[in-house]
Amino acid sequence: MDMSNFPFTIGDVARLCHLNISRENQTSEYIVCPFCGRKKMNLHYGKGLYHCPACDAGGSMLKLYAELRGFQGSKGEIVKEIKKELGIADNYCYRSARQSENAEVIVQPQVDFERMKRLDSVYRAFLNKLFLASVHKPYLYNRGLSDEDIERFGFKSMPLFGYKALCRELLQENICLENVGGFYLDEGEWTINLNPKMTGYMIPVYNYFGFIEGIQIRLDRPFGKTKYLWFSSNGLDHGTSTAAIPFYIKGNRKPDTLVITEGAFKAIIPNKIFGYSIIALPGVNNTREFEKLLPYIRQDYRQVLIAFDADLRVNENVAKAREKLRRMIYEYDIVCSTFEWDLSEGKGLDDFALHWQKNKADAGNERSDE
Ligand SMILES: [Zn+2]
Repeated sequence: MDMSNFPFTIGDVARLCHLNISRENQTSEYIVCPFCGRKKMNLHYGKGLYHCPACDAGGSMLKLYAELRGFQGSKGEIVKEIKKELGIADNYCYRSARQSENAEVIVQPQVDFERMKRLDSVYRAFLNKLFLASVHKPYLYNRGLSDEDIERFGFKSMPLFGYKALCRELLQENICLENVGGFYLDEGEWTINLNPKMTGYMIPVYNYFGFIEGIQIRLDRPFGKTKYLWFSSNGLDHGTSTAAIPFYIKGNRKPDTLVITEGAFKAIIPNKIFGYSIIALPGVNNTREFEKLLPYIRQDYRQVLIAFDADLRVNENVAKAREKLRRMIYEYDIVCSTFEWDLSEGKGLDDFALHWQKNKADAGNERSDE
């Protein structure tokens, strides 16, 4: 249904229903959901649609009116009722197309919560069947993780055999592997797209909403320059690709601030040491999935801090990527600054956090020696 053909907008409907709106001149807005009370409902002015991921209420502006007013009738009757309330003559056809003019400028990103939930349940069941080989533990300790961290984030070693048996176990638990990155049908039998000759460990990637939406593989022996791969089955029978999802951890310190960095470990370690909420892009230039989150980030945080590697003064690519990211964030009206430290204090945000922690511990020891 093309909502621009109606002589009213979803904003008009929202006001009739006493919803508190303030950004009607924009493409969309997040408001308090009248069905569940959480500030998660998205009103899309361009499309005349509403959706609340928290309680799954959603539909057209006509449905919104009918639901909130308890009005039962055909679409034509609902339109007639809204027009009556707004005092619009029955023969009036088009109002100004104000709300649809810039609808295409910023298209409201589609975040598919149903798919996220499904991927999360499949990946959790899959990871539960794997274990972390002792050979991988020293790597994780070296990065600054404890046994509790390893357990909490669910790092596992890549399985080297028994792929079809693993899939059979999942199927027996009524888990559907169709269209899940990493799984595919091999001559009619479900299997996993891993190469037993490549060893490494798996990093479950927790997305902005807390779901495991993908798995990254850290190869023991980098493949050329490639150290990380996504667990994916793109182009394979009944398989699919895995999006390059940012890794997110919520923190308790400075709850109005979100730190942006690159790479899962640069989120985990500084979150543990400093307590900030951190989101890690899969690569400094890999912002496609991140951009979809900006409307949510704008609701949840007052400011963001970009904390890319300290070598950006000599690494032109990183410096350029940071500028691009800053502009993208500004577009969404979010306050954005950068966080920098001296290269001598560590390259990545994780190195900097470990350096800071060590200095603090040393200072503490000196004091206790006195
Ligand atoms: Zn809701």
